Amino acid sequence: MAWFKKVDTEKKTPRKTLWVKCKKCQSHIFAKEWAENLNVCPNCNFHGNISSADRIKLLFDKNSFSELYSNIEPVDSLKFVDLKGPYKDKFEANKKKSGISEAVITGHGKINGIHVSAALMDFRYLGGSLGSATGEKILRAANYAYENNIPYIVFSESGGARMQEGVLSLMQMAKTCNGIARLNKKNIPYISVLANPTTGGVTASYAMMGDINIAEPFSVIGFAGRRVIEQTIGEKLPDDFQTAEYLLKHGFVDSIVNRKDLKDYISNVLSFYNR
Ligand SMILES: [Zn+2]
Repeated sequence: MAWFKKVDTEKKTPRKTLWVKCKKCQSHIFAKEWAENLNVCPNCNFHGNISSADRIKLLFDKNSFSELYSNIEPVDSLKFVDLKGPYKDKFEANKKKSGISEAVITGHGKINGIHVSAALMDFRYLGGSLGSATGEKILRAANYAYENNIPYIVFSESGGARMQEGVLSLMQMAKTCNGIARLNKKNIPYISVLANPTTGGVTASYAMMGDINIAEPFSVIGFAGRRVIEQTIGEKLPDDFQTAEYLLKHGFVDSIVNRKDLKDYISNVLSFYNR
């Protein structure tokens, strides 16, 4: 028995890191293959979460991205505590775990030579939730686009508003939308890219405001959860409800683009605006 016990407690067994289980088709993919395929399932094309750092590498011309507003970090204004402990401990732990200090990375750089301002949400940090600091960074990156007359691109990957910040979090919806709406005054294009998942207050604000809204395949995009809606309206919803494909069919997104094609797709759209 002792021998089994030893194996069982050995957490560094290769099993966990060698294979990734696809959330859609449930197949096991070699982790190296998964990473090389940009966290996309080679069997069913499900697009898994990707870190903001990897997205920057994928989208921006080499060494062209400069981070802005990295000093803006969450503040526990409400001194919020839930059953799992204080909010402050939670965001500190998330910072340690993910290596980033907020659920969004903001900055500017070049996409196939086109200078843009960008905000890249990161699901690893508190589920990519929208807190006060997240909203502030997204607003400031919009202002940077406005001041420099360059397009603005937001990549969303978020569970929605950050409940630990209560109404301060909800306020970010109006705040970010305001900053983005101002871009219209200068005819500055705003592109929103929706990855899996984009839900709640993020969908209900800046993620759906794009002049062009682009979704990654099979992304879950919606406001309230499926069960909440079904219970409220007393009806069963279609199987593909709240998927990128369903939204495209019903006119809520403009296109679905594979992750590997996003860079060229975005620069093509932006060059169209430049004509
Ligand atoms: Zn799959």
